Amino acid sequence: MGERALRGVSAAPGVACGQAVVIDRAIAHVATTIPAGDRSAELARAQNALGAVALEMEQIGSQLREAGRNQEADIVETGVLMAGDPELYSRVESLVMKSGRPAADALRQAADESAHQLAQLRDPVLAERADDVRSLGRRAAARANGFEPGVIGGVIIASTLGPADVAELAMNAKGVALAGGGVTAHAAIVARSLGVPMVVGLGREVLEVGDGEEVVLDGDGGVLFRHPEDGRIAAARVEADRRQAARRAAVAHRLEPAQTKDGHRLHVLANATSVAEVVEALAQGAEGVGLLRTELLYLDARGWPTEAQQASFLRLILASLAGHVATVRLLDFGGDKTPPFLKGAEGRGIELLLDSPDALRTQLSAIVAAGADTKLRILIPMVTSPDQVRAVHEILGGVLRGRPAPQVGAMIETPEAARRAGEIADVCDFLSIGTNDLTQLVLGLDREHSKSAPVTDARVLRLIDATMHAAREAGIPVDVCGEAASDESAMPILVGLGVDELSVAAARVGEVRMWVRGLDYAGCRDASRKLLLDQPADAAGKGV
Ligand code: PEP
Ligand code: MG
Repeated sequence: MGERALRGVSAAPGVACGQAVVIDRAIAHVATTIPAGDRSAELARAQNALGAVALEMEQIGSQLREAGRNQEADIVETGVLMAGDPELYSRVESLVMKSGRPAADALRQAADESAHQLAQLRDPVLAERADDVRSLGRRAAARANGFEPGVIGGVIIASTLGPADVAELAMNAKGVALAGGGVTAHAAIVARSLGVPMVVGLGREVLEVGDGEEVVLDGDGGVLFRHPEDGRIAAARVEADRRQAARRAAVAHRLEPAQTKDGHRLHVLANATSVAEVVEALAQGAEGVGLLRTELLYLDARGWPTEAQQASFLRLILASLAGHVATVRLLDFGGDKTPPFLKGAEGRGIELLLDSPDALRTQLSAIVAAGADTKLRILIPMVTSPDQVRAVHEILGGVLRGRPAPQVGAMIETPEAARRAGEIADVCDFLSIGTNDLTQLVLGLDREHSKSAPVTDARVLRLIDATMHAAREAGIPVDVCGEAASDESAMPILVGLGVDELSVAAARVGEVRMWVRGLDYAGCRDASRKLLLDQPADAAGKGV
């Protein structure tokens, strides 16, 4: 049988190769009705299963705490509270006693109903818990059917998994592939922090994979390969070994500066959306966060997030960045990041925020309050004009209440912004080039392709070069926070053009710092000049 690619969404980076272990199929489905006389015993079985799972989670929680993983422990321990939820108990009771449902079925259905209720809530953080409750139901159902959680190696395949499942399984699992699930769900956070590659949103088809079938999971590309070709298996094995060795080296060299062989100093920061990524990035020597994507937590939101909702997320993440650079990007909704409440709205990023100035004020207020102990920077997404930056400055001034003003920077990720980089730089403290959107918009590619597209294409390169000139004129630093910053061939060209900071995925920080130490700055400058000169200017002008 030929190789087949199932496509989902990357939730945790890395590559895994191994035998599939299909968790959901391990739970037998018994479609019978329990006779009235046996229902009390069946209910006791269901309750015991819930109790056993609660105990199990408590143990996982304390193991995580002992290992210093307090954030993951908090998440897992919330599951213990959910297992004791009286409403869940009464649902199970009614399903078994009134409807005669078997214990496992009742547990799954009761948990699904509780999860559905949570998912309807306006609070996106609580809604995220829906997956955790479903997972609790599945674990308890497996218990009720006599399935003991064992030592599972290989690539785990399931419909969805909760954080406790991932935390427990990750010790032995090579990767996780889910039919459903979300990139921002807690399970994904735990997987990222534990360094387990994870792909979500693969669809029900993934549950048809056979137990023991060899698969390759590409956590970066968001793909699961069935019947992988020999070459892919070999490449995946090499890549998995390489990553492990690179991480060990990254942590060992975290105190060495990111400086080229000829003494040019760069700053390597991290892109993040969770505390776990910040912790990992700092362990690998990151000097802070160059891009905190705030919108990903609210993609299912039914309204602009409130200050309290944003504060609870920001306080947690910014506390782990005390004393470090913390670049918080304003909500970048629109395009492929449009929540239900903005469906049909025109515009993207700052344009949408300026259409709802109260929402912008709310976010700025939450950021300045939560970031007091950090070297705080505010980054404006999808800027197209200096007036947008001025508008942010004005609203920011109104929420400072005596606190020091954070630096304000603009994303240069549209051709318009690059063309007006001089005017924009004049009203900014720094610029950050978003090569993902810039490449896409200039070359007319979709976002997935633009991640690996050549920023070295003259049309993109000239815009980056123009941005660099503008920033130098204004005397402000430039960061690159798109994927190109961690692309081994593009990064030296960007360095040669004079970028000051590279902001990359948390798990790549150490590797990129090591690459920098192997560079020759004079050589990078020559290579980037040559690329600009070698490509005719008229080719550069097209489509821009
Ligand atoms: C970019 O466009 O390069 C970028 C970093 O922003 P995002 O990927 O979040 O759109
Ligand atoms: Mg972007």
